[in-house]
Amino acid sequence: MSVLPEDWAVPAPTAITEAWFTSGTIAVQTCTACGTRQHPPEELCHRCGAMAFTYPALSPRGTVHSYTVAHYAVNRALADCVPYAVVLVSLDDAPQLRVVGNMPGVPIEDIRIGMAVEAVWEERHPDDGVVIRLPQWQPASG
Ligand SMILES: [Zn+2]
Repeated sequence: MSVLPEDWAVPAPTAITEAWFTSGTIAVQTCTACGTRQHPPEELCHRCGAMAFTYPALSPRGTVHSYTVAHYAVNRALADCVPYAVVLVSLDDAPQLRVVGNMPGVPIEDIRIGMAVEAVWEERHPDDGVVIRLPQWQPASG
């Protein structure tokens, strides 16, 4: 189950976004020089300017920091998807980082700021053969 249409455009991974979009983990860009974690991944470390990173898998658990509900389809392809929620999740292992996603299958009225969530991965198969794994969110189990 997904929120956005199956044929909705997916990211074309680059060297710095590949781990995030294909690993099926919460692979957060971490600076090898100073250890700073940042998301979304960028060319330079925000703290020290270094350009070398690792992408360790952090816990797939987090907390809904905020959310909004899209009621208007900004693109005709989204007409059957509205209303849908877009959540901003603070990661348990890096609370300063926020990850954007949806909560497929979860009624909008059940979403709350502060609720514990865990990532699930939505696979997409664009024509170039790369498997895209988009992190989405569900209420945390246990
Ligand atoms: Zn750094």
